[in-house]
Amino acid sequence: MAKTIQAIRGMNDCLPNEVGAWQLVERHLRELAQSYQYHEIRTPVVESTDLFKRSIGEVTDIVEKEMYTFDDRNGDSLSLRPEGTACCVRAGNEHGLLYNQQQRLWYMGPMFRHERPQKGRYRQFHQFGAEAYGFEGPDIDVELIMMGARLWKAFGIQDKVELQINSLGSGEARAAYKEKLIAFLLTVEEQLDEDSKRRLHTNPLRVLDSKNPDTQRAIADAPRLIDHLDEASKIHFDKVCAQLTALGVSFVVNPSLVRGLDYYNRTVFEWVTDMLGAQGTICAGGRYDGLVEQLGGKASPAIGFAMGIERLVLLIEATQDTQLLNTAPDVFITALGEISQTPAMLLAEKVRDAHPSLRVLMHCGGGNMKKQMKKAGGSGAKLAIIIGEAEIEQKMYGVKYLQEDKPQQQFSEVDLIKLLSQMN
Ligand code: ATP
Ligand code: MG
Repeated sequence: MAKTIQAIRGMNDCLPNEVGAWQLVERHLRELAQSYQYHEIRTPVVESTDLFKRSIGEVTDIVEKEMYTFDDRNGDSLSLRPEGTACCVRAGNEHGLLYNQQQRLWYMGPMFRHERPQKGRYRQFHQFGAEAYGFEGPDIDVELIMMGARLWKAFGIQDKVELQINSLGSGEARAAYKEKLIAFLLTVEEQLDEDSKRRLHTNPLRVLDSKNPDTQRAIADAPRLIDHLDEASKIHFDKVCAQLTALGVSFVVNPSLVRGLDYYNRTVFEWVTDMLGAQGTICAGGRYDGLVEQLGGKASPAIGFAMGIERLVLLIEATQDTQLLNTAPDVFITALGEISQTPAMLLAEKVRDAHPSLRVLMHCGGGNMKKQMKKAGGSGAKLAIIIGEAEIEQKMYGVKYLQEDKPQQQFSEVDLIKLLSQMN
């Protein structure tokens, strides 16, 4: 036999038995976006490498070591998108969506990062993102956070996630703070992990969210950005906190939350869970008021978040009644003997005409009653419609209840369609 070919490491197939959870999540996300009046934007999965270098930042994990970058046949450097925000801004600028306008946008789709695959961390993963342009906030900051809160409630996981927020202040305030932070880090340099030593000069804020416990101990007394905010950012942050409290959303202020991408300023937030091990961030976002201009557009305030769909699916599977994820048919239609095949299929089409959302599984491939009923039972359907020569002659169809202890009944076509309307 020929050697089989396998999927790329860290890039997963989503198989039919898993897809129910995905579809459920995707459906809720679309409804959520619509209910808040965010509009979908779809952008290509490949962009010019410069887009990500200029937005995410050269000295970030993503650009330094995680991007799938290649030269196309013209010699242009292209990259598979590692995230969606830069793509949204690129498209918004290109099509004049952001110029002197307010926009609420969302996207959903695959992203690519060459990371070490593990539970909740993959090389192709999927994000849902929402982005708002042209709003100074803090109200829009709160709106985006409320969207998350509403989604967790819809899935009954509101007790499994915690909201952490912080403010990164303005670019100028952050630059002044960076000087202080570097001065402090130099005093503990020997105790830092290798990555952090390197970042001390290139991207010192990232040292704050190092996962290394020794580094964390060494920087416990580092000056905190939240104590060095510019006045306007501080007022903005206080308003976000007050409004969240008024809306009944609990949160913790996490001064070491800095986010891994360069473009953030002011409000940043993460929804985290302790149920998925180290990959606990389900959703992360923040303001990026400088990015639209940085990518060549007219300056526009901006804020957004991105949610990891794999992690959300894992969390839902870990906590939720799998009934909700059921993709089993409602009705199984049998066709006994060759003579029944066409009438059975005709009936199946009529049922679908009458009840478009009903899940109708038509038995194909023949076989005796025993075999077909075994399939019906295994399908998870609630009832089986029995169609054989006698049923066709009498124009009365048998209905067998597969999950209830009820005797088999006969129905005319009209009554059968009526009966099925109760299952919708
Ligand atoms: P992490 O700290 O877990 O690496 P991040 O800060 O790199 O996350 P973002 O770039 O903010 O993540 O992406 C937003 C969300 O996308 C994350 O909170 C997470 O849920 C999801 N995500 C990011 N990278 C991956 C990945 N490699 N596999 C699966 N989901 C991911
Ligand atoms: Mg990451």
